Amino acid sequence: MTYADLHVHTFYSDSTLSPEEVIGYAKDRGLAAVAICDHDSIDGIEPCISAAAGSGVEVIPAIELTAETPDMEIHMLGYFIDWTAGWFRDRLKKLQAARVDRIHAMVEKLNKLDLNISADDVFKFGGKGTIGRLHVAQALLKAGKIKNLKEAFNKYIGFSKPCYVSEVAFTPKGAIEIILKAGGVPVVAHPITMGKDEFIDEMIKHGLRGIEVYHTDHGPKISKHYEDIAVKNSLLMTGGSDCHGAGKGRVLIGMVRVPYDVVEKLKKESGKIRNEYK
Ligand code: AMP
Ligand code: ZN
Ligand code: FE
Ligand code: FE
Repeated sequence: MTYADLHVHTFYSDSTLSPEEVIGYAKDRGLAAVAICDHDSIDGIEPCISAAAGSGVEVIPAIELTAETPDMEIHMLGYFIDWTAGWFRDRLKKLQAARVDRIHAMVEKLNKLDLNISADDVFKFGGKGTIGRLHVAQALLKAGKIKNLKEAFNKYIGFSKPCYVSEVAFTPKGAIEIILKAGGVPVVAHPITMGKDEFIDEMIKHGLRGIEVYHTDHGPKISKHYEDIAVKNSLLMTGGSDCHGAGKGRVLIGMVRVPYDVVEKLKKESGKIRNEYK
């Protein structure tokens, strides 16, 4: 059987891995396909496609958008989006610019707590990609202000913690709609971080097509729970490692994988969506 890892980041957001490294790991680990799901960015897709030429690894164009409600953060994956669409790229550029302002605002809050870091310390970890909280955590770790990355989120920058600054993000409905408009298949990422299952019904009303059932943060029990919800609601069941390279410890590519058949289903669904929304 052939397999796909449907949730991988590159250094175009907050992974430490280049497109060449991502494809190298995917090939070494025997994957038939990887979905490139950078936060609010499609910049890694083309370099990954180039890096994959002749490798036998298929690159699935995707994205991971951040959505917020007043009391939770929701990540929305979009598979087989038309990443070449100008209007979509323009929208992402605006989100990326807002993320830079957000870093300045979070650094200001951290400094009020005497953590003494600068925005430049954070940007050094960002490289050419979308800047975000993992880079803030990495800067705090380097400066010796925390013992591990998790501590940064638990104490300071996790959702609703004292130094958290809301993203200029989508509502869940808005994230689903923009993915559909870009011809992509909206799938809610790692639903365990959202917690509220009843919100899945709400998202289905707005066009949600799938649930990321298998994920590094989902043990077997949690996966089974979301499998049941997916079956009950006729949703696609996807899965992936959410690899951030060394950004979150070890390279997870391929550690969570799904049969290639899921890729076929996503492709077919994207085709339907493109017919519906053109
Ligand atoms: P941002 O895009 O700036 O909101 O940051 C998102 C990044 O922070 C992703 O890599 C998330 O996995 C990571 N992240 C968010 N909350 C937590 C948390 N509580 N613990 C660990 N990582 C987190
Ligand atoms: Zn990330
Ligand atoms: Fe995520
Ligand atoms: Fe992710």
